[in-house]
Amino acid sequence: MSDYQHPIATGNTAHAAKVTLIGALFDLALGVLKIITGILGHSAALIADGIHSLSDLATDAVVLLSIRLGGRAADKSHPFGHRRIETLGTVLLGLILLAVALSLLWHNTISLWQGQLSPTPAWPVLLVAVLSWFIKEGLYWYTIKAARAMNSDLLSANAWHSRSDAFSSIVVLIGAGGAMLGFWWLDAVAALLVAILIAAISLQLLKRSLAELIDTAIPEPQQQGYRQHILQTQGILAVNELRSRTSGGKVLLELKLEVAPRLSASEAHWLGTQVKQQLQQQFSEIGDILVHINSPATETATAESTLNIRPALTAALNQLLLRYQTDADNIELILYYQDPIRANVLLSSNARQLVDSVSASELLQQLQQLWPPAAQLQIHFYLKKAD
Ligand SMILES: [Zn+2]
Repeated sequence: MSDYQHPIATGNTAHAAKVTLIGALFDLALGVLKIITGILGHSAALIADGIHSLSDLATDAVVLLSIRLGGRAADKSHPFGHRRIETLGTVLLGLILLAVALSLLWHNTISLWQGQLSPTPAWPVLLVAVLSWFIKEGLYWYTIKAARAMNSDLLSANAWHSRSDAFSSIVVLIGAGGAMLGFWWLDAVAALLVAILIAAISLQLLKRSLAELIDTAIPEPQQQGYRQHILQTQGILAVNELRSRTSGGKVLLELKLEVAPRLSASEAHWLGTQVKQQLQQQFSEIGDILVHINSPATETATAESTLNIRPALTAALNQLLLRYQTDADNIELILYYQDPIRANVLLSSNARQLVDSVSASELLQQLQQLWPPAAQLQIHFYLKKAD
């Protein structure tokens, strides 16, 4: 069985790659040896197991190749990167393996149906099966030791795959041995079992990569872990939305984060960047994150929020201040799209004369005459202290 994961997601990538490569070299040697011995020694089970070894090799090859192709940085025509190349490769590999498994199932069912046609397996078949069992069991111990030393899930999965391969060789040993003892059908039954194993591997590969192609979300507990981590950042009030999907084994996130209603855009942006960096530091499987900031006021604003208030209000304020020969250039306008919309008008310190001579309510009245929608707004005038 292949528990198919992305090697990049694990630490110690170089050592993990070396251990994987050693396993792949054994798969190549064993695959060729099994198929040749299976054909010459008349064992359908050993041929099927040889195909299994080569399919393991193909899986590793797709992973290694995808790391090279899919690891390329994003470019102008592929702004989201090239990781889906790996997904596509896995779909193709899964389909090929499924076809191989079905063809093995078909042929061995036919030969069981037709009865004994081919000669009984020769003794080298047993020798190769025993050799494969020993090598795969040895690879299990070699890999599981490295996995425990590095605390790597990927290598641990690889180790257990080696052990299931060792089991596959025992099935061949029993099948071919049984056939030599006179139970001719045992070899075909063993071949069927190995074919089912290959089919299971192919379905696992297809399931994972097709889920990725239709943008399936990551499991709920994993999402909960991300949410809890995000809320540890002070200033983030709620995670309104968390959308996830995967690309080449990397998790892509879209977040809608709620911040306090009066937070400046600059501070909210800073908070968003913090969340992004902390998530990527904590969870190595996360790739790109898109952060959207929600302000509670924005969600409940009245119909006026469809108006872009700033240009009209600025023009009206300029007109108003001109009446009092006050420099209008230094107005600072802070808008809150809440209910009702609030506008804080910060006047520069040289507007002190204006503030002393006219009351705020009078200013407001004049502003409403210049721009009637001002009546719907909650407008506050402030005088900035001298710098
Ligand atoms: Zn295998």
